Formats: sequence, C-alpha cells, structure tokens
Amino acid sequence: MDELCPHLEKLVDPGRKPVHPSGHGCKECLAAGDEWVHLRLCMSCGHVGCCDDSPNKHATKHFQKSQHPTIRSYEPGEDWAYCYPDELTVDSLRALPGEAAARHYSAPAAPR
Ligand SMILES: [Zn+2]
Ligand SMILES: [Zn+2]
Ligand SMILES: [Zn+2]
Repeated sequence: MDELCPHLEKLVDPGRKPVHPSGHGCKECLAAGDEWVHLRLCMSCGHVGCCDDSPNKHATKHFQKSQHPTIRSYEPGEDWAYCYPDELTVDSLRALPGEAAARHYSAPAAPR
C-alpha cells in the first residue's frame, strides 16, 4: 500500500460523505461556451472542471483559487484521484453514489 497524504487519506475514509457534482460539464466552460477534453471532480465541493489537456484547465484553476486539494477523474471507467499540494495520485478511489460519471460528457456543439 502506497503512503497517502492527509488529503487523500480523507477520501479513503469509509465514513466519508459523497460530494455532489456541480453538473455534467465543466462549470466555467459551459458558462463561456468553451469546450474541454476530460472532466475532473473537486472532492471538497463537487466543482466539475476541465483537465490540463483542455484549453482552459479549469480544474487546476479551481484548486488555485479555492485551495481545495483533491480531485478525482469524472470520466467513466476512471477512478484515480489526485492531490495538488502533494502531487500524489492514487489509482483506485472507490466512488460513492453520485460521484462517478455515467458517460463521457462533452461540450454542447458551440456555434462558430
Ligand atoms: Zn495531499
Ligand atoms: Zn473548463
Ligand atoms: Zn472545490
């Protein structure tokens, strides 16, 4: 078993409460009509943001603004979690009800 930082320890605690995803897409991108590649879920407040391969990197920006330390993937079939301050990844964080994405949510086709 790899050593976990205190932030990720909290996520594997069986008594943890589920977070509620903010929506089926990156919150800021939806508001701006932008697109994303993959989605990440903030494990502190449920903010859904786009990954670092996306043009806007809103998940990382959310961490910088909020200091919420951990995210998990919000993509189907992926259950890794990541801690920003410790730059630490865990491979299989069991999702609690509502935390896993049922499918890949992509941005609504934007008119150009
Ligand atoms: Zn940590
Ligand atoms: Zn975004
Ligand atoms: Zn957050």
